[in-house]
Amino acid sequence: MVNHQTHKRIHEATMAHNPINEPLFTQSRHNSTWLSEKIVSFAQRRGDKLTHIQQKALIWFRTESIFNLGPADEHRKDEDVMGAYKTLFDRLFFFGSLRPHVKCVMQKPKGAEEHLMGRTDQDKSYQLKWSYPFHEKRMEACITLFRTKTKNRPERFKEYLATMLHEMIHAFLDIWGCRSEGCYNVWQRQGVKGHGHAWQDAALAIELAVADKSMLGIDLDLGRQKSLAVDIVYERRSVPEEEELRRWGMNQGEVDKIGKIVKDQHIITQVMGSR
Ligand SMILES: [Zn+2]
Ligand SMILES: [Zn+2]
Repeated sequence: MVNHQTHKRIHEATMAHNPINEPLFTQSRHNSTWLSEKIVSFAQRRGDKLTHIQQKALIWFRTESIFNLGPADEHRKDEDVMGAYKTLFDRLFFFGSLRPHVKCVMQKPKGAEEHLMGRTDQDKSYQLKWSYPFHEKRMEACITLFRTKTKNRPERFKEYLATMLHEMIHAFLDIWGCRSEGCYNVWQRQGVKGHGHAWQDAALAIELAVADKSMLGIDLDLGRQKSLAVDIVYERRSVPEEEELRRWGMNQGEVDKIGKIVKDQHIITQVMGSR
């Protein structure tokens, strides 16, 4: 592991005015809590507070028929629709920072994958970068969406979109979050691999923004509560404080209940997520 380097921060004004194709973040150099705070802050913007990139993305969403999820557009390939939404979400919520780093593929599930909705694989060779300091390797992540059996078009896309957003948050924290041992294994891990504070805060803000009629007006379930319950049961994470649960619209009783169901049904693989 490398020596720890100071976490990089960027002013919000700089972030808001960064041109779409200009790199903004540095791989593995940001505090995951800070990254999450920035997602939340920008996902809460509305009206004239939206950045130029967000405003343009919204106009694109309102004027392009590729974004229609109704049955009339069944002739479109699912891949094409998801590709457009991936770019839209990247511009609205991830500062356009995922575009060259994250690809998304749709696959028929094999074997145990039948129970999985999606997952994020992070380029395993990223360590090359540390072994050969002069060999700058671009960190990449691949999101796999497993094809669902859901026939109803709007329902099918709601599943895909929720899974893709869930995974995009993982990918964002994966790529830009600090990978130094202490950060990664202790608090950082709460956001990078699991569904701790960094992931939860970001997921809630994005879910609310997507549902907001002035934004996209699509109700999506990113699996926040279920993913937390799985982390508590299977990864032996401590239960967050009541106040934090309240902030996420959850409570101890419900999390326990879902935890029991998760345990009884052994549905560890039935939840979305990179594990
Ligand atoms: Zn760090
Ligand atoms: Zn997950």
